[in-house]
Amino acid sequence: MRIAVGHLFPDYLNIYADRGNIAVLTRRAAWRGHELEVEAIGAGDELRPGAHDLYYIGGGQDREQELIAPALAALGEPLREAVSGGAALLAVCGGYQLLGRAYRDQSGDELPGVGLFPLHTVAGDRRMIGDVLLECELEPGERRTLAGFENHAGRTYLDDGAEPLGRVLAGFGNNGESGYEGCRAGRAIGTYLHGPLLPRNPWLADWLLAQALAQRTGEAPSFEPLADDLEAAAHEVSAGRARTRGGRY
Ligand code: GLN
Repeated sequence: MRIAVGHLFPDYLNIYADRGNIAVLTRRAAWRGHELEVEAIGAGDELRPGAHDLYYIGGGQDREQELIAPALAALGEPLREAVSGGAALLAVCGGYQLLGRAYRDQSGDELPGVGLFPLHTVAGDRRMIGDVLLECELEPGERRTLAGFENHAGRTYLDDGAEPLGRVLAGFGNNGESGYEGCRAGRAIGTYLHGPLLPRNPWLADWLLAQALAQRTGEAPSFEPLADDLEAAAHEVSAGRARTRGGRY
């Protein structure tokens, strides 16, 4: 089956090779007989209702965020509608910040957000850099860990009642204080974890693909497991680094 992906501002938001997440989704979909069709979406483009099953937006520095924030915010309404209509979404770091309500960057400028996630972000003086380990429960009773790398000055504050992506086991997370990382709204996930994120956390790649297929067909498939030995080893290395040196200035 075809899975239509809308990749938002790929030329600007691709720090730490975040684009690698798309490569992982493409291969894992292909191994299950599905084809990812990725469309780049940038300034001035239109989001056609129902055109995409999955959206992706990567991270970037304040400089790139400032360049694209108004054009991204202009896509806010159709993007929010797509996600509330069941499209899946993954947003990383700078993209995650801009899908909130607003981001006040290091120079004090307030960048407009898309308002898809109920949160706001304010840049602080010290960067939060290091490996991170989270515990997530995206499906009731299914606890999984996510390992990655974070590098952000922004402190993200979730609105009351907003659902975090996970609990921080090691690392800084959303703001270094709340004990939570990321945000989840239905099939949309926002996170600070780079790395890229998906090569060392294949279960999340499969969750996103299943959500995208559920949007397309009305039913989430249950995939046969793949031989993820290398991925599991990468996860362990990353988790170990987070446990020994994550969350320190
Ligand atoms: N500019 C943002 C921050 O520092 C995001 C950085 C990133 O995407 N790594 O908070």
